[in-house]
Amino acid sequence: MARIVVAGGAGFIGSHLCRKLINDGHSVFCVDNLITGDKKNITSLLDNPAFSFFNIDISNSLDTITQRIGDINYIFNLASPASPNKNSEKSYINYPIETLVVNSKGTQNLLDLAREKKAVFLFASTSEVYGDPKESPQKETYFGNVNPNGVRSVYDEAKRYGEAITFAYMRKYGIDARIVRIFNTYGPFMQKDDGRVVTAFINQALEGLPITIYGDGKQTRSFCFVSDMVEGLVRLGIQAGLSGQIVNLGNPDERNIFEIAERIKEMTGSSSEIVFEELPEDDPKIRKPDITRAKEVLGWEPAVSLEEGLKQTIEYFRNF
Ligand code: UDP
Repeated sequence: MARIVVAGGAGFIGSHLCRKLINDGHSVFCVDNLITGDKKNITSLLDNPAFSFFNIDISNSLDTITQRIGDINYIFNLASPASPNKNSEKSYINYPIETLVVNSKGTQNLLDLAREKKAVFLFASTSEVYGDPKESPQKETYFGNVNPNGVRSVYDEAKRYGEAITFAYMRKYGIDARIVRIFNTYGPFMQKDDGRVVTAFINQALEGLPITIYGDGKQTRSFCFVSDMVEGLVRLGIQAGLSGQIVNLGNPDERNIFEIAERIKEMTGSSSEIVFEELPEDDPKIRKPDITRAKEVLGWEPAVSLEEGLKQTIEYFRNF
């Protein structure tokens, strides 16, 4: 069984990934500075002897943990704020410098660790590297349409830099590196207040508050349930012979935001009204992954429908 570092392991996707890796029998070293992650997400793992938690910012030196963690076989780098919603304290809009630094310097520190430990490295990139795409669905070969200095640039450009330095280390130092571009993902353990559309709508609906659609609601997203995402991440991060692969992971089931609002309202039995608010700057109009490569390379495709995933997520927030 392997020894695995998960940076950002106390975040939403990171904590699901830690649980899956522990269930699969691996030892997990979870590193997180908890600015947007939450220790509550990993409470169930803290007593597990195969799990260790380090409250560390990967943007700083990793010297304090390099000796303590011993041999490492795999590194998953998911450490970054990821919500674009300026109304949420936890968004990358409110942590602009931290977001740039964690994806650049933080990623480089982990790449140095991967080099030293001869570990396989997976960088968690994002569909945001495609910006407001002019092509749909988005294939991995598309270079994107990103505003280099808009409010979202702190995330989009940081992730693009993260991809660049990951591949620079692969080319210059021969490390085994892979890149995943994660599309919209949802499910239990999302932060209630992170402002992402699914959590916002579910909680507004459950609390009888207005459901806030930004813009006219015709913009589209494609939502992947977290268990599907984690299955794809583990395959891409661990399977042998995948160095140099860049793979989209997401659910190609594209819906518009108005439909998401209506569906959540209906499924929660809510009497909330649907209201329209201003569209944030540079909000992409469409987003849908082309997952041909994930199917071919990983034998992966999503198994959980939007309706089933929403049911489980609504249940989670009802009991919150
Ligand atoms: N959105 C919305 N109401 C909200 C939160 C988000 O209409 O309360 C919209 C947002 O403008 C975007 C889409 O839902 O068009 C997805 O937003 P999210 O923040 O979840 O992630 P993004 O895909 O934009 O990174």
